[in-house]
Parts: sequence; structure tokens; C-alpha cells
Amino acid sequence: MGQGRKDDVSRMVDLLRSGAVMLAETCPVCHTPLFKLKSGDVYCAACEKKVLIVKEGEAGEFKVLQLSTIMDLDRTIFAKLAELNDMIRHESDVDRLYELARCLIAWLEALDRVKKLKEDLS
Ligand SMILES: [Zn+2]
Repeated sequence: MGQGRKDDVSRMVDLLRSGAVMLAETCPVCHTPLFKLKSGDVYCAACEKKVLIVKEGEAGEFKVLQLSTIMDLDRTIFAKLAELNDMIRHESDVDRLYELARCLIAWLEALDRVKKLKEDLS
């Protein structure tokens, strides 16, 4: 590793000096401890990327997300929407169409959520 690892450490030191706080949560990509910046943003010093911590349910379990993960989600959802669109076009059974439409709405809602997450990260 050598130089790269050293740079990570010096970036972490710089973060701490700037008033950032090291968190118990680690980066989902590189498993380096995350930092909470004075601005309130969570940051990975090794990836040099902003990370979003999503609180899950009442248990207060945290999920750590990075923008790259969300970009992947985006692509998956778009692919599913395209598949559904194709299925709906070729389906004539009313019950089946109803199911597909419900599915379509669920994916569109997911897409909307992903959009909001992206806004939080940018
Ligand atoms: Zn990282």
C-alpha cells in the first residue's frame, strides 16, 4: 500500500484538526471509520467521498450509503422499469395488468426515494 495508506491517515488527521468527529460507523466500500464534518456531512477520508447514514426503523440501526451505491440502485430501477414497460405492452390479461401497474408504481416510488437520497449526498 505505502503512499496511499499514508495519505489516508494524514487526511484523517486533517479532518480531526478541522473539528470533524470520528464515528463508530465505517465506510461501506473501504471499511475505514467515517467522519462527521462540522457541516454535518459524513465523509470517508479514504474514498474522499461523502457518505449518507440512513437511520433504519425504531431500533436506530444505521445503514451507510455512498453515492456510488445509489447510482447502482438508480440503474437497477431503470432496468426494472424498462422490463415492466415491455411486459405491460404485451400483456392483455386485466388482472395481470393490474399487478404490473402496482409493481410499476412501487418502482417509481423507489426511484423517487433514490432521487431524494442523491439530493442529500450532493
Ligand atoms: Zn471509504
